[in-house]
Amino acid sequence: MPELPEVALYKKYADATALHQKISDLSFPGVGTLQAPKTDFEKALKGKEFTETKRLGKYLFLKTTGKSCLVFHFGMTGKLEYYKNQETPKYTRMLISFENGYQLAFVCRRKLGKVFLAEGIEEFQKEHSLGEDALELKEDEFLSLLDGKKGIIKGALTDQHLLAGIGNVYSDEMLYQCGIHPKSKTEQLTEADKKQLFSKMRKVLEMAIEKEGERAEFPSDYLISHRKESEDCPKCSGKIQKIKVSGRSTYFCPSCQKEQK
Ligand SMILES: [Zn+2]
Repeated sequence: MPELPEVALYKKYADATALHQKISDLSFPGVGTLQAPKTDFEKALKGKEFTETKRLGKYLFLKTTGKSCLVFHFGMTGKLEYYKNQETPKYTRMLISFENGYQLAFVCRRKLGKVFLAEGIEEFQKEHSLGEDALELKEDEFLSLLDGKKGIIKGALTDQHLLAGIGNVYSDEMLYQCGIHPKSKTEQLTEADKKQLFSKMRKVLEMAIEKEGERAEFPSDYLISHRKESEDCPKCSGKIQKIKVSGRSTYFCPSCQKEQK
């Protein structure tokens, strides 16, 4: 599932392909992803250009020469494809044609991706009660978000209303890098734990962006390529375990990440 680092890549991709060209046409080959009527998208986008992109958490915003922003949420399997003289990719939900003959497809195999229109990023953030972007947060802001937060730490890290961008895979990685059990209670973490969590959060996200999401190129002591039951822990002689935390499949090493009593 695309999390902050993957959406950062889609941003880079959109920047390199789809900006500053006139939109000539739109079509909607797939169903179930549009969060506004088709005619609203047509009205907002036809004849306009994308001017700039922004990312907030797992959302990608494409600003236009008009009044609206186009917003993508990639769900479990979403991606962008920019091409010319090619058949429409399978599972395309929205297709944007440009005057230069190129097309930008929002492709989503499963229907969990979403496409919105928004007045602006701040309005959208407010409307959807989204927290600040995980990479924009300062340490003191992160600490104060966790202060007074009760319940499982993994739940807090993946709560998009608290901080935006972290999902199942990267939250497991941060906790693993800190040696914190995914079921630990937020209120039981020490100040030092929380500071370490902040620093590993940044490190893990920045590393993943730098490696362009290529998991094979992640450092060898990362959990991410060992997300399998009974896999060898890359840091100790323990075995990786899979458990459910807040309904999500969670991987951790019981020797590196001891449960608090
Ligand atoms: Zn271990």
